[in-house]
Formats: sequence, C-alpha cells, structure tokens
Amino acid sequence: MLNTLRRIVQEINNAHNLGEALQILVQRVREAIGADACTIFLYDTRTQQHILMATDGLNPSCVGQTRLRFDEGIVGLIGQRSEILNIEDATLHPQFSLHTEVGEEAFHALLGTPIMHHRQLLGVIIVQQKAERRFDDTEEAFLITLAAQIAATIAHAKTIGMVTHLFDATYANNNPEIALYGLPTVPGFAIGKAVRLFPLADLHTVPDKPITDIEGEIAQFQRALDETKAEIAAIGQRLAPHLSLEDQSLFDVYLRILESDSLSQDILSYIKQGLWAQSALKKVIHNHIQQFEIIDDPYLRERANDLKDLGQRILSHLQNNQPKEIRYETNTILVGDEITAADLAHATTGKVIGIVCARGSTHSHLAILARAMGVPTVMGINSIPNQVNDGISLIVDGYYGQVFISPSEKLINDYQELIQQEEKLEAHLDELRRLPSETLDGHTIPLLINVGLPSDASISLTQEADGIGLYRTEVPFMIRDSFPSEEEQRILYRQLLKSQAPKPVIMRTLDIGGDKPLPYFPIVEENPSLGWRGIRVMLDHPEVFLTQLRAMMRANQGLNNLRIMLPMISTLSEIDEALRLINKAFHEISAETSDIQLPPIGVMIEVPSAVYQSDFIAERVDFVSIGSNDLTQYLLAVDRNNARVVNLYDSLHPAVLSALLQTVENVHKAGKLVSICGEMASDPLSVILLIAMGFDALSMNAASLLRIKWVIRSFTLDMARQLLQEVLTLSEPHLVRKRLKEALEEYGLGSLIHGTK
Ligand code: PEP
Ligand code: MG
Repeated sequence: MLNTLRRIVQEINNAHNLGEALQILVQRVREAIGADACTIFLYDTRTQQHILMATDGLNPSCVGQTRLRFDEGIVGLIGQRSEILNIEDATLHPQFSLHTEVGEEAFHALLGTPIMHHRQLLGVIIVQQKAERRFDDTEEAFLITLAAQIAATIAHAKTIGMVTHLFDATYANNNPEIALYGLPTVPGFAIGKAVRLFPLADLHTVPDKPITDIEGEIAQFQRALDETKAEIAAIGQRLAPHLSLEDQSLFDVYLRILESDSLSQDILSYIKQGLWAQSALKKVIHNHIQQFEIIDDPYLRERANDLKDLGQRILSHLQNNQPKEIRYETNTILVGDEITAADLAHATTGKVIGIVCARGSTHSHLAILARAMGVPTVMGINSIPNQVNDGISLIVDGYYGQVFISPSEKLINDYQELIQQEEKLEAHLDELRRLPSETLDGHTIPLLINVGLPSDASISLTQEADGIGLYRTEVPFMIRDSFPSEEEQRILYRQLLKSQAPKPVIMRTLDIGGDKPLPYFPIVEENPSLGWRGIRVMLDHPEVFLTQLRAMMRANQGLNNLRIMLPMISTLSEIDEALRLINKAFHEISAETSDIQLPPIGVMIEVPSAVYQSDFIAERVDFVSIGSNDLTQYLLAVDRNNARVVNLYDSLHPAVLSALLQTVENVHKAGKLVSICGEMASDPLSVILLIAMGFDALSMNAASLLRIKWVIRSFTLDMARQLLQEVLTLSEPHLVRKRLKEALEEYGLGSLIHGTK
C-alpha cells in the first residue's frame, strides 16, 4: 500500500494543473481499492457548498455542476463531523440525498473521508461499490493517509487561487465572468483594453548554421551588441525621472551584463569556430541562463529572465528586426506570456494602466518597475487564453491577483465604484502630505521609511519622511557577482546619505544568510533561519564587515547623518565584538581622513533572547530598533517563508505584543530611543498599539507612509492606550485583529483595512 500511495502522490504532484491532479487521484484510488467509483468534492467557502470536482465511475458531466449544501447528504455529514464514514449501504442512510444526474443510485457501499488542512475542511473524497459491503481497515487507512497527504497540495492550490479558478472554470455556464488567477503583484484596480505582446525574436528557434566570412559575422555581432546597449541606455534615461536610484541601477546591471567580457568573448569564440552569430548567441545565453536557474534564490533566478530578454534584443538587432511600433491608447493593459521591464518602458508613460503577465514573480524587474510606476499588476498566471487579444476588455484586480476577461456591465460598474473609492482615499491621503505626523492631542511620532529592496526606494516619498529607518544594505550586494569594493560601497552609501541629509539614515550592516544568500558566497545549511546569518557571518568575516563599516563611515564624512545598526543579535558578546570592530574601523579612518565622526550605533531586536536582554543591550548602544518580521518568526517558531505555516505567522499574536511592550519599557528605562522597522509599522491595525506602547519612531515601506499618518492623526494617545490595555487582555491573535478592525471602523478608517485578512 505504501508504494501505491507514494506513486499516487508523486503522480499528483507532477500533474500540470489541479483539474488534472484530481482526475488522476480519483482514477488511481479507484484502481488501488478496486472500487466501482471514486469521487472528490472540494468545499467552496464562498458559497458553502461541496462541489463535485472529479469522478471515476459516476457521471463525468456532473463535474463542476453537482453542488451540495454544506450539510447535505453523506458528503455533508462527513464534512460536518470531520471524520471517516464507512457504510455498507449508503442508500439506506438517513442522510442519503439522491442526485439522479450523478447516477449513484446503483451504488451501495460507501467509504468517505474529509480532506483537512490546518483544521479546515478542504473537501471530501469518497469511494463507492455497487455491492453492499464494509470497506476493510487497510482500505480505511489507505484513504485517510492519502487524504492527509494530498491536503497540503490542495491547500497550496487554494492559497494561490487555483481552486477558485477551477470552481469558476468548471462552472462557467452559470458564471459569465471569466477570471484568471495569479499573484497579486502591484495593488490597485484597472479597467481597460488589452494590448498583447509577443516576444520579438525567439532565441530557441534559431537554427545552427556554419559560416565562412568570420570577420563579417563578428562585425555584425558587434554592431548588434552596440545597438542593444544604446537601446537599453536610452530606456534607462527615459525612465530615470520615474525611478529611484536603486531602481535605476538595475538598468546599469543590464548594461554591465552586455559589457561583460564573459558574454561577448564566449560568443566571439563560437563565431571564430565557424558558427553564425545568431546561434553563437543562443548557445551562450542558454549556458548562462542554466547557471542562474539552478540558484536557489528567487531574486537571482529572475536574473535568468533578464539574460533571456537581453539575448532576444541582441537577436532582434542581428535580424534587423527592430521592435514593432505599437500604438498605445489610453487605458492600455499590457498582456503577455513574458513582458519585460523594457517592454513597459516602450509603452508611453501614463497610457499603461495595468499589466497581466503569465510568468514572473514579485522579484522581477517588471514587478519592480510596475510598482515604482503604480501600475496594478497580476503575474504568474499559468497561461493566457488565446481569446485575450488586442482590444479585448479586461479588469485587473491587483489586490486579489484576478483578471476578468470581457467583464459584464455589472462587474465593470462594481469595479468603477472601487476605483472611485480608491481615488477618494488617495486624494484624502494626499492632503496629509504636508501635515505633521501627530496624534489628535499633539504627540509627534516620526515616520521613517525602509529602503533597500529595489522597489521601495521611492525617493519622492522619502521627502515626506523623517529619514530612512532601515537601509537593507544586502540588496546592492545581491545584484553583483562579487562583494562590492569599499569604494563602490562608499559611493552608493554617500548618494543615499546626501539625498537625505540632515535627516538620519540607519544603515543595517550586511544581513545575509537565512533566505538571503549571495550567489558568490553560498551558505548551504539544514536550518538556515537558525544558522549562519546576519551578524554571525559578519563577525566570522571581519574583512567583509570592516570593509562595509569603513565605506559607511567614509561616506558619512561631513554629513554626519549616518546611524549603523546590527542585525540578528542574540547574545551580548556579539555586540561587544561588533563595537570593537566599529571602533577599529573608526580609528583607522580618522587617522587617514579628517572630519570623521563615530556614528550612533544601534541593535535590532529580532530574536527572543534579545527581548529578554533588551535592558543590557540598550545600555551598550545608542538606539534600538525592533525587527518584528524576524521577531514574530522566532517567537512563534514559524518560518516566515514557509507557505504551509503562513496562517500561524501573526505579528498581532499576544506573545509578540507582550515582547514589544517589554522591549520598549526596558529600552526607555536605559534612557535610549526605540523604533520599529518590521512590516508591523506599515500595518494600520498595528500602528495604534505601537503608538500606545511608546515607540519613538516607526519605519515602514514608503507606500504606507500616508496611510499610517492618517491613523496616527485620528487617535489621541489616551484612546490608543485604552485600546492597548483592552487588547492586552485578549488571548488570541484573531481576537486582537477583530478588536483593532472594529476600532479603525469606529474612527472612520475602515477604508484602510478593506481587503485585509
Ligand atoms: C525584520 O526582521 O523585521 C526586519 C526589518 O528585517 P528583514 O525583514 O530584512 O529581515
Ligand atoms: Mg530581520
């Protein structure tokens, strides 16, 4: 049985889509048990119905059509009781409800088990036999084990919207709105007309061809390369006013790839062996892509797409196949299997209001650009149907990752209303730009922003902020192929410090390891979150740490708005050792250069031990900042990157709140300032509690700044404190969340939380 089980699970996991997986499941289970029918129902929480999704033995035309109320029939009973049922003759059971279209009146014996994931009912699987009989213990055990194993697959499919997609697709007759589901990449709504993009030239289909005029071929390749460089530089320049420095540097990455010797030398060497430039290009790009694709880091894997895009562009120049001039009308929604950042750049600014892309992820350059431009985007839709052609109407819902094809008037009206609500909210928020971040009774809370991830360094918003509360320095390290030199780092840091001066910039020392490995510094560990990461790596590599510290302090020369922050501190000796190295770097630079000041030094509280020792920590340093993303992960023992336990990850867990409160009290007792720079500071629900706890500053993603200011300006400190006292008596995260939602609604801030969990 075990082997059969393994084989079935493997086959299911290899299926191309959920529909296929379910069909394989019912066939294999029926065969394994030797039953006459096997059927799977999935539970639709929206309609509270069990929907027949696959069957082997019952009428196949009922798939997607037969729907049972949550308590209807034996399937409903299994779901309600959450336990296995083994019945000799189901037709005699008081709960039996006959759906004649299914054709189950001929079946008597029934064995059914619920499919549960995290205590939630996902569906019910039943096997049926025409004869009357009881299924034996081995068969029961087999079905229970299988249901438990496939639950995770179905839950995952549900998380990414595939289950709803399947419900809607199979029920299309009754559901006129055809929806595609993908990853919500850039929030917002767009109603417009599709412009479908197709790749310019296809590297895959280039045939191998020998040549004799090697010199001529080399010259042609050089010309194509130069034209591509000029094209990329022009796009970069065109977009520069819309992009942050960090985002602009991504175009430099493109240019550096094009200029790298390894790329052109490899291509030239193939040409010299007698291959024409087009297939030499194909081979080299293919080899490079393969190297990127085996890297376990999604950000770096995306670089494979950059390479592919660059390869296509060079090819199009080689083929004299200049990009087709597309006329972009207003309200264009770009649709394509693979849309590149450069495609978006080609579209006239302001005309593209939405993007739908079959591939890619939130780390891609396209996502980065779209976010910087505020264009609602859905990515990661498996495939785009052929009917989505130029001119077809679409609605893009970037909050839920949905795209509606040829939507009905009613749906368009509904979405127009949502767009109007958004516009009202944005207009209201815009009025807050110049207003102070203070409570109704005049308490000021400085708001800073987090930068580093290429998407959030929206410099226009940094003007509204009181400084940078977290600069994640690892990002520039990630987009290179070796550690940047001290001088390279100094230039980068100086740019940022200068752009903010005299406002403070808190630079975090390199926080690599965990889920942030560097391609040129691989760290392979069984348990990376508990392993060699953050300050641990830096103290073991003082040469890397000192280079970064020196670069930071040299960049600060004459500006003096630098603060340095140490991540992942779990024990006091790490602080002592880091301070020793900071002082060493400071004395060395002071001896070489004038006007160098020792910057204030801070520590991030990210692990439970640091919470309990926050009094000692605060005595040793100038300031403290809570990294609530990691603190939540480590306090609750929930991997922040693991989708399977995502429902347990909650920063509003009472244990997290109590840790925050204790830290604030300890740090204040030591007479130091404490801020928070995790995602909690960007969350309107959490902010009221943070103010009440006494945080001296909040650091958040730039896009949330005005929303958070609105919350702060809607409460008095007393109101916030009362709410905190009330919430501290609650024992469960969902109760905390519910109470905070009520409070926001009560104070007219409901529009900030619509669509949140
Ligand atoms: C945090 O852990 O809260 C934090 C701000 O750091 P990062 O998200 O970069 O780990
Ligand atoms: Mg962290």
